[in-house]
Amino acid sequence: MERSMLGHAGYLTTIPQNALNSMIDVVKGIEPEMGYGAILQVSEIEAAMRESRIRKTKTVCTYCGVGCSFDLWTEESATERRILKVEPAEGPANGISTCIKGKFGWEYVNSPDRLTSPLIREGDRFRKATWDEALTLIAEKFTSIKNTYGPDALSFISSSKCTNEESYLMQKLARAVIGTNNMDNCSRYCQSPATVGLFRTVGYGGDAGSISDIEQAGLVLIVGSNTAESHPVLATRVKRAHKLRGQKLIVADIREHEMARRADVFFRPNPGTDLIWLSAITRYIFDNGLANTAFLTQWVNHIDEYRQSLEHFTLAMASERCGVAVETLEKVARMIAEADGVCVLWAMGVTQHSMGSDTSTAISNLLLATGNYMRSGAGAYPLRGHNNVQGASDHGAMPNFLPGYQSVDDPDIRSRFERAWGVALPAATGLDNHQMIDAIHEGKLRAMYLFGEEMSLVDSNANFVSSALAKLDFFVVQDIFFSDTCRYADVILPASPSLEKEGTFTSTERRMQRLYQVFQPLGESRPDWRIIQDVANRLGANWNYRHPSEIYTEIAALTPLMAGVTYERLAGYKTLQWPVAADGSDQPLLYTKNFHFPDGKARFYPVPWSEPTDQTNQEFDLHLNNGRLLEHFHEGNMTYRTEGIRAKTPCTFVEVSPALAVERGITTGSLVQLTSRYGQVKVQAVVTDRVEGKQLYMPMNSTEEAVNRLTSRHTDTATHTPAYKETSVSMRVLEPHGESPLPRTNSRFGKPTPQRGVEVERKWQRADYRMPGNPLIQIQPAKES
Ligand code: SF4
Repeated sequence: MERSMLGHAGYLTTIPQNALNSMIDVVKGIEPEMGYGAILQVSEIEAAMRESRIRKTKTVCTYCGVGCSFDLWTEESATERRILKVEPAEGPANGISTCIKGKFGWEYVNSPDRLTSPLIREGDRFRKATWDEALTLIAEKFTSIKNTYGPDALSFISSSKCTNEESYLMQKLARAVIGTNNMDNCSRYCQSPATVGLFRTVGYGGDAGSISDIEQAGLVLIVGSNTAESHPVLATRVKRAHKLRGQKLIVADIREHEMARRADVFFRPNPGTDLIWLSAITRYIFDNGLANTAFLTQWVNHIDEYRQSLEHFTLAMASERCGVAVETLEKVARMIAEADGVCVLWAMGVTQHSMGSDTSTAISNLLLATGNYMRSGAGAYPLRGHNNVQGASDHGAMPNFLPGYQSVDDPDIRSRFERAWGVALPAATGLDNHQMIDAIHEGKLRAMYLFGEEMSLVDSNANFVSSALAKLDFFVVQDIFFSDTCRYADVILPASPSLEKEGTFTSTERRMQRLYQVFQPLGESRPDWRIIQDVANRLGANWNYRHPSEIYTEIAALTPLMAGVTYERLAGYKTLQWPVAADGSDQPLLYTKNFHFPDGKARFYPVPWSEPTDQTNQEFDLHLNNGRLLEHFHEGNMTYRTEGIRAKTPCTFVEVSPALAVERGITTGSLVQLTSRYGQVKVQAVVTDRVEGKQLYMPMNSTEEAVNRLTSRHTDTATHTPAYKETSVSMRVLEPHGESPLPRTNSRFGKPTPQRGVEVERKWQRADYRMPGNPLIQIQPAKES
């Protein structure tokens, strides 16, 4: 039984400790004669009796895009609500697995810091307000700004942590009520380039198959993804297949993370050069007769044009620019060409570059050249970061697409939505997140409504973003805590987290899942979909959704990609992987009969290489990499509120290589100041060989010393996703000695013991081992003397 259940679940756990100790002694005493059988029966009876005292509710994790689902065991009274246990069992993505965040990261829902009533700014302070006051003020301000400056002076940002239904309503509010396409979500910060790479080459912006395909692949290539920390449960599928089934693993990364240490081949390309080596090995595969010509002939367009574009990408050139030996590249090319199914996994190490879309395209080109689409155990797998990055974009929280990636500039599509919504819709593509910040500084954008995103810290060049938010005439922030972004708000609306509402999420494998309400909303907080509806109705919309299922009925009717999605088809642990036809059939494997283009064929898409931005020079002589951490979700607004997680990883840090540490006189615990062209932070060092030479790594888990104070305004050319991974800094030692920022109990100090599994049979084979559950024996009464 888990500690969180002790004293709250079952009948035996409330027994005083001294009585319990005596009972344990009795059990130990009789066990040699009785065996475990009878004792376990008592346990079974107790477990059955406790069922009536515990409520079990299925939910879906909100900490990453893997989409783990599980039952939450809870106990609720008039004065207290308690999470007893997270029990994974039937989740299609995770089975019985979760990571530390999914298992333990839920204490924040009961935090005393939760926002429980609306707040309105008065000078430099906020005062509590009623919902009526807050909604009236929002309606007045939005109307006045729209009347004065036009609808495009307002902007809307949806949350990739919130539900599909909530993103749908937010974009409907922007388009149908206000009349603007200034609408985006945080996939702009991470995954938009991967989507573009897939749109260009295979047609759909989603993973080619399921997590089970990744497990089945003959070879997995991981590029720019710290999968073991950012998508932990998905990583276990690769670890298992690699360890037990002989799956080959190749990792390309500038940092030697856990998956790199497990890999058959690990190499470190110079930062920002992935496009070069990917293109070079594709050329090598063509030149050496290793391409899948039968597949290419039947399924791929633009072959000649693409091969010509590879002219400059020789292995020699790639070796020189990427800093990887020719022999390594040749070996990688041959392993990929010869493997029985290749899945490529990539994440922000690829996408958060000025060539993020082009490098994603190069990955898909390589998969086409080797025929690694249209079969199980193969394909492209951009790993979505937030739990609902995929779903927020799928449901229209984008400046150029209505739900289901239907273009705003297509008159037929627009008129279908106009008939359904009863209004005229704007046709011009709106501003994305990045453009919104520039437009505020230019005085063109006057108001913003944002929910569930910590924009002032997670957008790149945070100082520039914060100064923009401070300039807004009117800013509405909807969140569960008083976030850093709230500091710039005029009205703050208290929202409910996932455990206090219903809806659907879509995970990285396009898998749609329902979450059910565990608790009532705390205080006066409300589910985001209700608040968005309240705002819309104050603006005259007259919406009347009583439950998220009613919102989904409307989505399905307007969105061919989701035509057959219903709440009944998603009941309990049932799931659907889009596209979902009207009869409810879905597509776990995305391309079976054709690619998503009019002629059904995929397209090679040539991509050139250009120099990364924000390069090192004499002054800013170190490359700063940055990203996620196993224990925390982003800046840590939720996970720092779980005591056990905070104890393991109490603050952020910067990883420094052993060589650089010697050169600069740094030890683990040293306090250093990092300065970039855009800002500075003070942070403690951890000396580790995970990083090499003059490369640093800083996780994003800090609100005080946020890494985005250092990152730039440079972006991916196609999507405006910030080039977070192209950052140069200088480092000054402030205090050479100090306590380690990571306690010794942190898993990074552990030494894994490789073994094939639990290997319980080794215990059974011991001479002194007695199998439990021996038949009950009759205890004979003592004979009277
Ligand atoms: S792997 Fe991702 S979805 Fe699964 S429990 Fe961990 S954070 Fe949640």
